Amino acid sequence: LLEPQHFIDERHAELDQRQLRHVLDVYQANKGDELRVGVINGRVGSGIITHLSAEKMQLEVNLDNPPPPALPLTVLLALPRPKMLKRSLQHLTALGVKKIILMNSYRVEKSFWQSPWLSPEKVREQLILGLEQARDTVMPEVILEKRFKPFVEDRLPALMAGKRGLVAHPVGGESCPHLISEPAVLAIGPEGGFIEYEVDKLEQAGFQRIHLGPRILRVETAVTAIVSKLYD
Ligand code: SAM
Repeated sequence: LLEPQHFIDERHAELDQRQLRHVLDVYQANKGDELRVGVINGRVGSGIITHLSAEKMQLEVNLDNPPPPALPLTVLLALPRPKMLKRSLQHLTALGVKKIILMNSYRVEKSFWQSPWLSPEKVREQLILGLEQARDTVMPEVILEKRFKPFVEDRLPALMAGKRGLVAHPVGGESCPHLISEPAVLAIGPEGGFIEYEVDKLEQAGFQRIHLGPRILRVETAVTAIVSKLYD
């Protein structure tokens, strides 16, 4: 089966132009080859190429498996710079996070909120890349919270119901817990880190401060390390 998974529309078992280029350029695919395919928010399976030209590919599709289970984790991510935003969205999606809240923080540059990479279409492109990579189909929900204090005071409490809150901060706190299995909300700071006021506010909202030891990691590396400690 050719990797990664490609998304198809169940009624028209065809690849779009971006996917077609990828399959032709990277794999030099031929009629009869089998691809991994999925339907957004649906099942995953395989598709045998039954028709192939430079403009069009048709598949005989067998969607026999459910997507992998979602991670019971919401990530509050201080909005990263555009290049890192793209990678972070892909990584979080590939890890199975189904709710991503891009929030403001004192050290988030104002200009990041103007980034064209925050448009719903561009965000969706990154989510699809993450889903294709992970053989998943369930599209994460992405929410923008442009003001830290009203978000943490007014909206975060409802979101926290029944979940454990963890704020990743290199200074103070406890070592990141292992295999918690319960649902959680994880806050990750910007490139310059959270300021103490923000960590205090999150602690007042019920979050526990956690660290990953003395190494300061990039946002997407820190998220990946924490997720792999928290869940099997
Ligand atoms: N100088 C910043 C600081 O001291 O917070 C470094 C920020 S780091 C590049 C970006 C984010 O990744 C941090 O705000 C934190 O959420 C997470 N992070 C990175 N390394 C970490 C560590 N060793 N322990 C806990 N969180 C970490």
